[in-house]
Amino acid sequence: MKIEPGYITEVKSNKSNIGTIIFCLVIGLISVAIVFATVILSYGRINKNVDTAQEGVTKTTGKANNSSNNNDKNEKKEEKKVEEPLAQKESFPTHDFQKALDSELPKYNEEIEKKVVGVYSSDEKQIFLTFDDGPSTNITPRILDILKENDVKATFFVLGSRVDLNPEITKRAYDEGHFIANHGYSHDYSSIYSSIQAILDEYNQCTNSVRNAIGVSNYNSHLFRYPGGSAGGPYAAIKEEAKGFLMQNGITFTNWNCLTGDAEGKNTGDDQWNYLMETAGSRTSLVILMHDAGDKEVTAELLPRIIKHYKDQGYVFKSYYDIMK
Ligand SMILES: [Zn+2]
Repeated sequence: MKIEPGYITEVKSNKSNIGTIIFCLVIGLISVAIVFATVILSYGRINKNVDTAQEGVTKTTGKANNSSNNNDKNEKKEEKKVEEPLAQKESFPTHDFQKALDSELPKYNEEIEKKVVGVYSSDEKQIFLTFDDGPSTNITPRILDILKENDVKATFFVLGSRVDLNPEITKRAYDEGHFIANHGYSHDYSSIYSSIQAILDEYNQCTNSVRNAIGVSNYNSHLFRYPGGSAGGPYAAIKEEAKGFLMQNGITFTNWNCLTGDAEGKNTGDDQWNYLMETAGSRTSLVILMHDAGDKEVTAELLPRIIKHYKDQGYVFKSYYDIMK
């Protein structure tokens, strides 16, 4: 209660008012005490209820854990991971999760490993268009339009963090028959290359993002592209160490054997074209590295020219489904 200076003057000047004020103060104090007591009692009751409820949950969970094996635990962990982004993102598609047929999913075994490794040395005139670091809201849909117009399938090495932002675009790429491969989650070198377990964690995190986006609970591309490539650079040692570890977890990797340089400062269509011609040379089997991040306008502009050129040269356009299905 704020006492105005004027009020005090008035109290001093009138003796009979002092009695009224004391009476009011006493009544006020009693009221506050009653309210306080009520609040304390109610709080005690609510707390007791919460404790009881938590005990119930703990007991149930304990029971479930006791009766389940490790696989069940892992599945529960996976399910939980899958659900988290759904709850966070309002714009997330609300389709039901489904399981894809085995025949529709990428596969991995020894024979496929040989094919993935041997892709560069094939005598077949073939070309794999690959796009890293997407999906983006502006460039990826343009690239998808161009691929559709030309009836060409490509491979997208998506970032989980970008997939979470653009699930509808990821789903569109998947539905239109393109191969959704894995480029990790963060693209933050110091984080992803902090340990081999961190690399696997980022792979799994990206896989979960893709599963959420496309609505297929058992999707796994089995195909990773190391951010910055699988060799060299300051993280060369950990990348090398990770290869066997990822393979044990059913994950292979691929790089590229030619590129437009769209992430290396080749900023005009002609510069990118010349760089591609230079790096592709006269190879029969081409894995072209490009990017569909938000600033890759030139990549989208150049794509029709690349497709026309290699179609005219008699190359067959392929995605990694042609190797891994
Ligand atoms: Zn990248």
